[in-house]
Amino acid sequence: MIDLHLHLDGSLNPKNILKMAQMAGVVLPCTDEEEIRANMVVDPECTNLGEYLGKFDLSLGLLQTAECIEYAVYELIRDLKEKGLCYAEIRFAPQLHLRKGLTQTEVVEAALRGRNKGIRDFGITVNLILCCLRFDQNRAENMETVTVAEQFLGKGVCAVDLAGNEAAYPTETFQDIFAAAYEKFVPVVIHAGEAAGPESMWHALNFGALRIGHGIHAIEDAKLMQELKEKKIFLEMCYSSNLQTKTVERVEDYPLATFLAHGIAVTLNTDNLTVSSTSLQREYALLQNQFDLSDDTLKAIAKNAVDGAFLSAEEKETLKKQIDREFSIWLHGQSKK
Ligand SMILES: [Zn+2]
Repeated sequence: MIDLHLHLDGSLNPKNILKMAQMAGVVLPCTDEEEIRANMVVDPECTNLGEYLGKFDLSLGLLQTAECIEYAVYELIRDLKEKGLCYAEIRFAPQLHLRKGLTQTEVVEAALRGRNKGIRDFGITVNLILCCLRFDQNRAENMETVTVAEQFLGKGVCAVDLAGNEAAYPTETFQDIFAAAYEKFVPVVIHAGEAAGPESMWHALNFGALRIGHGIHAIEDAKLMQELKEKKIFLEMCYSSNLQTKTVERVEDYPLATFLAHGIAVTLNTDNLTVSSTSLQREYALLQNQFDLSDDTLKAIAKNAVDGAFLSAEEKETLKKQIDREFSIWLHGQSKK
């Protein structure tokens, strides 16, 4: 299985947090793993994306040294391998890791060390996506993220993204960031249609996004759905997260099946292993149970993820074969339950 939409800071487990606190010399208010987890997992009463994003504070506070960043990426790859993934794109915003004096370049170098060691030790492929952030006073930081992405493109970094509170900071105000990415040939993915409507996704498409994070609100715009299909724009859907942030209020309104019926290249992802308290296998199982999707449909979703990955044609061929094998094992396991 493949996860294309996975945030580093929302996916560390309590053991990782304790270890990082020790490494950084930070005294945590509590050292009980369950209490730490409770601090990180989204509240069932969460009402919006802004609240959900508050759950990253603990891990972000620790991801401020090169040592902790390297460790976190490495441990996440270990976790992904244990969960049966064969490829993942891990994303984070370098500008959120500068509190102790690191530069964005140093942050990415540390993450790449963790990535390279993780690939070596756990045998799965991983690339990094660098997130620009939705704020109104950070244009220079966002521009620097694009420059750093260009510097490490093809060396473990595969794209830039735009993340943060979409409702508070509209996509349209970030045009110059993506014009710079376009000039530097850095591939673009953008979180859109999550906490804002279809217009946000139209802007993302105009900015050259090859994939859209979530894209839920495309359901309100038939022309947009046609555009997504024609341009083969991949949607990185994250079922549990989309329900938790109340992007979709009712399970039965989740638009994945409608998108599939429209021929849109839907992929399924976790968003955040810890904050959303999930795994990719769980997401597939939830979808299968909730919408009665056939095994072939699930496999098609997994293969969409391969097609949407920032990999060579050769690597994609290998992954598709791997997915065929892993899926048959997994589906066999599901049918026994
Ligand atoms: Zn996300």
